[in-house]
Amino acid sequence: MKVIREARKLNNLVKIIKRSGKSIGFIPTMGALHLGHLSLIDRARKENDIVIVSIFVNRAQFGPKEDFKKYPRPLKGDLGFCRKAGADLVFLPEDKTMYPYGFSTFVNVEGSSSVLCGASRPGHFRGVTTVVAKLLNITQPDTLYLGQKDAQQAIIIARMVTDLNFPVEVKVMPIVREKDGLALSSRNIYLNKKQRIDAQVLSKALWLGKSLIDHGQRDASRIILRMKQLILKKKRARIDYIAVVDLEDLKNIKKITQSCLIALALRIGKVRLIDNIIINGI
Ligand code: AMP
Repeated sequence: MKVIREARKLNNLVKIIKRSGKSIGFIPTMGALHLGHLSLIDRARKENDIVIVSIFVNRAQFGPKEDFKKYPRPLKGDLGFCRKAGADLVFLPEDKTMYPYGFSTFVNVEGSSSVLCGASRPGHFRGVTTVVAKLLNITQPDTLYLGQKDAQQAIIIARMVTDLNFPVEVKVMPIVREKDGLALSSRNIYLNKKQRIDAQVLSKALWLGKSLIDHGQRDASRIILRMKQLILKKKRARIDYIAVVDLEDLKNIKKITQSCLIALALRIGKVRLIDNIIINGI
């Protein structure tokens, strides 16, 4: 496994790989790798000749009051993790490699970037799409692997890939969860014991939403109300949003007549957690 820090060096290597007709699978991450990331790397390993993982805590997607500085960076462990998972190349750029002096070009997917997480984290998705566009240009993958854990992010990136004609296929992998339902996230380590227990309420609320739909409820506002009631039983939980939205444009749905996404963001103490479920077969 090679670790590369320079964009040009990786880009040159990628050109050689492509010339030899080999396929490339790419997984962008911010590190602090866990089994959710592993599921993406595993899938890429099965489907490609060469697997590239990037580890970059992208300053551009953090707000001024967010956790950029304290975001976990267990680099040694992450590199061991990538090696074990079978990655061929790890791209580990520095800030100044991705955003050199004078950097002033941004990619923004309009509409879907300003709802849900975009409403409470202005500029977040602009930072995400900008860095992913850059990473796609550097790594030139055949397939980009993303997690449904960040469903809005995956939908926005798929939109960008279509709109800007990136020659890459986007594959979205299912959410990997702890036994009690909590979606794996690099931010779960911020939770103390009590908060960790309270955090079960995210997935529980989503299962409740799904079960109401399974039993015939089609009114999104009623589903959201029931989920709210469940969540507010936890004193430490504050609701950022709960929404039932269209799977393509993320617009709110009032009556559920087709597949949709139920997404939510909560704060447990100071920790902001997100989760979602796709409702199919309506
Ligand atoms: P991050 O390092 O948090 O930026 O995540 C990198 C990629 O891993 C994103 O595409 C995430 O959606 C995905 N990912 C993170 N957590 C999970 C999870 N629990 N299950 C599946 N994919 C995940």
